[in-house]
Amino acid sequence: MSGSTLSPSSRARLETLAGAMQGELLLPDHAGWGEASAPWNLAVVQRPAAVALPADVADVQLLMAAARDTGLGVTVQPGGHGPHGGDLHDCILVRTAAFDELTIDIPTRTARVGAGVRWGRVLQALEGTGLLALAGSNPTINVAAFTLGGGHSSFGRSFGLAAHSLLAVEMVTADGRAIRVGDGVGDDDELLWALKGGGGQFGVVTALEFRLHPAPATGRLYGGKLTFPAAAAGPVLRAVLDVAASAPEPLSISAVLMVLPDLPFVPEPLRGQSVVTVDIVSQLDREATESMLEPIRSAGAVVADTVAAFGIGALTDVFAEPVDPVPALEWSALLGSLTHPAVDALVAAFAEGAALGLSLLQIRPLGGAIGRAVTPPAVAGVAGVLAAHALLGATGLVFDPAMVPGIGLALGKVRDAAAPHTVHGRVVTFLAPGEDLGAAYGAPEIARLRAVKARVDPGGTIRSNRPLPLA
Ligand SMILES: Cc1cc2nc3c(=O)[nH]c(=O)nc-3n(C[C@H](O)[C@H](O)[C@H](O)COP(=O)(O)OP(=O)(O)OC[C@H]3O[C@@H](n4cnc5c(N)ncnc54)[C@H](O)[C@@H]3O)c2cc1C
Repeated sequence: MSGSTLSPSSRARLETLAGAMQGELLLPDHAGWGEASAPWNLAVVQRPAAVALPADVADVQLLMAAARDTGLGVTVQPGGHGPHGGDLHDCILVRTAAFDELTIDIPTRTARVGAGVRWGRVLQALEGTGLLALAGSNPTINVAAFTLGGGHSSFGRSFGLAAHSLLAVEMVTADGRAIRVGDGVGDDDELLWALKGGGGQFGVVTALEFRLHPAPATGRLYGGKLTFPAAAAGPVLRAVLDVAASAPEPLSISAVLMVLPDLPFVPEPLRGQSVVTVDIVSQLDREATESMLEPIRSAGAVVADTVAAFGIGALTDVFAEPVDPVPALEWSALLGSLTHPAVDALVAAFAEGAALGLSLLQIRPLGGAIGRAVTPPAVAGVAGVLAAHALLGATGLVFDPAMVPGIGLALGKVRDAAAPHTVHGRVVTFLAPGEDLGAAYGAPEIARLRAVKARVDPGGTIRSNRPLPLA
């Protein structure tokens, strides 16, 4: 049940709001509260004052007025893969599922999506269009949440971070105005810059438009997952890094060391096993891709192989990630370099960490358009360009609360092994609960973001999961 400390007058005001909205407003004693208020990452406990499911822009405006009257904050959480870390007791939690519009415009190579749309639906809609979008690895991730946080895609080496392709944003500001940013007409360039990677702290976004990119002429991609026993982790990871270092931009390779959970979404023979997997997404044809994969294939005995031609609609099948909520503790970093001895140190840290409850260690090599200067630089937004070599992430699935201290120690082992190679900066979507934007950006960017925040939300009504650092 709730830890809400709502005063009687605030509760009365929220009940008035509930009556005025076309959509729904749930309070902690309402049926369905537990599911409605929980994030996707079930390790984070949230006790918001209310959960709002607005039906339209007018509902969002009504809820902003109620937030002003009650002094409550407003925090948007379409799914909760990246929850806040705080308990949100003084916030109205907004779910955007009703904002479900989706338009793909093939001639202009653009898409318009409502703030409730998830990547899986966009990818299905792109099938057969000859176009690609900068989607992530999981179909359940919300397009707006992902893009506002920078957004790392397998197509990033060709086309940059998702935020770089963001063209326009429609949102409701804390003072209740419905505005559009983008198109260059009467524009607030500084706000658009901040929205491209500054996260969800400038208003409630209701829709966004972004650039799509050309698929290969055949309309088909090539790739999948190669799975090796964990004993081959060292040679496989070294081969992945070597191949990624010289690969052309249309080839994206990432690697995951993991203890596969004993759960139904894992194929039967692999449940509970330790493995290393290599995820491949290539815009090149089979022959060109396979010739580059050869050093990886020969680095160990392949025990499962899903590599084949596929259409954009099946992109996230490559990664085969869980789609149902799970409890997880996470840590991530950007690596400036990754030598073979460093890989060996990470493999050793994972092995030690796995004994303590660590589930997964992921390396996503970057490069290409992710690190290449954009002209004009404002197009890249605050997300900017990342000169780093790779993104490193570690996750422990918390099947039992007693696992938390062990996973904490395990994440520390990975952090220590990575420390000599980490550089400042992060893709905001990979920040962990409790981290702020100071972990992603430098002092000049934080100062610019603060100036935008002070202008568009002077009262601090909109609470982001990844807030600005305290001044
Ligand atoms: C299995 C898994 C795979 C992932 N894969 C990737 C990947 O490939 N690439 C990547 O970059 N990241 C990835 N992530 C990281 C990241 O958690 C998500 O990209 C991101 O947090 C979106 O998750 P979500 O859709 O649940 O949004 P939420 O976690 O619900 O939202 C995140 C934040 O976005 C802001 N926000 C969302 N919608 C709005 C809105 N309408 N208006 C204003 N603010 C808003 C809010 O501040 C909110 O707290 C992954 C995470 C997991 C667990």
